[in-house]
Amino acid sequence: MSDAVIPSSLLPWQQSQFQRLQILASNNRLAHAWLFAGKPGIGKLAFAQHFARYLLCRKAGNHGPCGSCQDCHLFSAGTHPDWLLLQPELRQLKIELIRDAISFAQNTSQRGGAKVIIITPAESMNNNAANALLKILEEPPAQTFVLLVSEQPGLLLPTLRSRCQRLDFPAPPAAQALAWLQTQAEAGKNPAFHLQLAQGAPLHAYKLMQAGAEQGFGVLMNNLEAVANGASTPVQAAKNCDELGFATTIDYQLLGMSLLLAVLQGGAALVVPPLEPLLSRCNQVAGTGMIRRLHDYYQSLVKARKTAMATNNANPQLMLEALFAEWSRVVAFKRASAH
Ligand SMILES: [Zn+2]
Repeated sequence: MSDAVIPSSLLPWQQSQFQRLQILASNNRLAHAWLFAGKPGIGKLAFAQHFARYLLCRKAGNHGPCGSCQDCHLFSAGTHPDWLLLQPELRQLKIELIRDAISFAQNTSQRGGAKVIIITPAESMNNNAANALLKILEEPPAQTFVLLVSEQPGLLLPTLRSRCQRLDFPAPPAAQALAWLQTQAEAGKNPAFHLQLAQGAPLHAYKLMQAGAEQGFGVLMNNLEAVANGASTPVQAAKNCDELGFATTIDYQLLGMSLLLAVLQGGAALVVPPLEPLLSRCNQVAGTGMIRRLHDYYQSLVKARKTAMATNNANPQLMLEALFAEWSRVVAFKRASAH
């Protein structure tokens, strides 16, 4: 998620977490290292940024940063010299970046206040990087805070986890998430649809809404259904998704498969309208065989996305054709058994 879509104020479902840290900080009892854990798309990074700004603002009150001092202005402009955001583009955060963080931690604060390092997602650090970071956590320089943001804290080195105070971020209640998303929505957008598509994760939903996912997702689900019922071929379907682009086509398929699996496995009751034909198709052959094949297909999508990101000469059109062909086998079954 790019910084542009991160709200600058505290999200309504993060009040209790903020209060807890704010009380510790105002009593000078704030630990140097924190692990913010929770599912993707609920605003952990937004919270970390808000809290970083609070720590850097020297006119901060109980409710957060003042928003008008020099530190707040520098932070908003992304040019505050005493905070560092490490967020790898690809999935691995290497030791070189942690070395930058170590010298940042060891240098004196440029504006004479706190220094803050945010690492997200923390599980993107390889072992060398994590071990290097331990150096800062074992002997934290004064007024230096490290905020680790993680979707999968179980993947972090146990030594790293044990050096951090953990703060959990549960997903917000659906009504609160929807109310917030409605305040963010431009006219003509459909917050409820996007929240369902993002399985209740409001920041993920916001990002999808900004990207106009409703239409693209519909196009993609129609193409999957057309391949399934024989109205279209994998080659034609891949061509129809040309405008969406390879990465988006894969991302929307991943969303669709993950929603289908959630419903088929009893984890979700609702489904967005473009998914209904596929759901009823899958329901006709519901059972472990179908669920296993959907899981396998999901893994193929993940693999295709990784391959395309890692290589320059991958042919996205051919990869999509192969995926749609695989999809036609996933949903192939004997109709005689249904009627
Ligand atoms: Zn301020």
